[in-house]
Amino acid sequence: MKNTLYLKFLLAYLIFGFFGFVVVATFASSMTEDMMRRNKAESLYKVATLVADTYATDLYTSNTSLDTVKNEIDMLDLYLTSTIWIISPSGSIILDSSTPYDVENQVTVENFDPVWNSDTFYTIGTFFDSFEEDVLSVSAPIIVNYKVQGYVVIHTTIQELDNFTNQILNISYITLVILFLLSLIILIFFTNLVYRPLRKITKATEEYAAGNLHYQFQVDSADEIGYLAASLSYMASELARGEDDQKKLVANVSHDFRSPLTSIKGYSEAMLDGTIPPEMHEKYLTIVQNESDRLIKLTNSLLTLNNLNTDGMILDKTDFDVNEIIRKTAATFEGACRQKKISLQLLLTGETLYANADVTKIQQVLYNLLDNAIKFSHKDSVIKIESIEKHNKILISVKDQGIGIPKESIRQIWDRFYKTDLSRGKDKKGTGLGLSITREIIRAHGENINVISTEGEGSEFIFTLPLSDKNED
Ligand code: ADP
Repeated sequence: MKNTLYLKFLLAYLIFGFFGFVVVATFASSMTEDMMRRNKAESLYKVATLVADTYATDLYTSNTSLDTVKNEIDMLDLYLTSTIWIISPSGSIILDSSTPYDVENQVTVENFDPVWNSDTFYTIGTFFDSFEEDVLSVSAPIIVNYKVQGYVVIHTTIQELDNFTNQILNISYITLVILFLLSLIILIFFTNLVYRPLRKITKATEEYAAGNLHYQFQVDSADEIGYLAASLSYMASELARGEDDQKKLVANVSHDFRSPLTSIKGYSEAMLDGTIPPEMHEKYLTIVQNESDRLIKLTNSLLTLNNLNTDGMILDKTDFDVNEIIRKTAATFEGACRQKKISLQLLLTGETLYANADVTKIQQVLYNLLDNAIKFSHKDSVIKIESIEKHNKILISVKDQGIGIPKESIRQIWDRFYKTDLSRGKDKKGTGLGLSITREIIRAHGENINVISTEGEGSEFIFTLPLSDKNED
């Protein structure tokens, strides 16, 4: 079953060889034989006509003797290795190059028919039973005074002709065998370029189907099959990555849910069984409430992230004033900034700056970035929010003077649940999901988000938005 394609190709190859042989053995063979006989007959016919028009005519006009003509046809017989007759219309052989001239015992061809070759200019046969084996015969009439006086008939054995035909056919057979062997090259090419890579691809798909998504295989060709193999391998690696991500996500979710749940359970039990005295309840109930808030936040973030992925993110794009959204978002953080004595500086381009995007989602992006900037800023520091119009795009930057991000963590901060070691102590409520949501939203708009950060100095998050045509009005 696995070898079917190969067997099919091999069968096609053998069929090609077989039909090649049949063609040479039938068509080519009969065509060559026919052509050889015709050529020979043509050349003999020319000689017969020549003899009929010259010596033979002379014989009937008494310009020459029988002996002279006999000598001439004997010479031609030697030269052509053919028997030459001069025969009367009634069938008596007047001269025969193969036997000495004998007037007494003149041979007569029984049943001789002067129009024996009216259809073709030559015949193959025993010539009215005059020969034991088949001969090729041509004839030319001897015409004197508009009257047929006799015929010059030339016979030649076909044995020699057939030998020659066979030699030519042998050359055809040898050429066919060489061609057949040469076409083996196609079979070798097929094996190496198609069959083997296909076997590898089939094996790989079997492995992937069996769940072994980390199965590696190599097909080194820059054609469609190579492309197919590369795509398949890429697809498997993506699936494997998805599977790994899924496992990591479940591990992270369980971990992040366990700690607040443990403390909620621990404190509530301790309050119920009296380990924590009633006067201390308020303090511990506050902790339980905070932990519950964290669980709600975590669940909401997870749901948001899940919806973003599953929906392929449906965006409700409108033209809106980015500056206004920045002002609004900044206003919601006024209380938090006052607490940490952080001053928010808004450096906005123009009175209004219209973007074309999903306003609610962009507001969420700004909220996440500003929330982080405040969380990771030192007291008495400044956070700048800028809107810039550049190269037909809107650039928005949120820049803080906080703890910064270590170089080795820069790439990971976008991953789900990732938190830098620096921030863990400072922000116990963080989920590590905000930035992955942020990036998903920006990417769904076909835009980019980037971060520039130096540990201990601060971070700047910059993202782009599509400029709206409304700005031109
Ligand atoms: P969360 O803030 O809930 O922990 P995020 O996905 O928003 O989750 O951020 C991931 C991590 O990236 C944070 O835990 C923190 O380590 C780092 N980070 C994000 N923003 C900043 C910032 N402005 N300054 C320093 N570190 C940051």
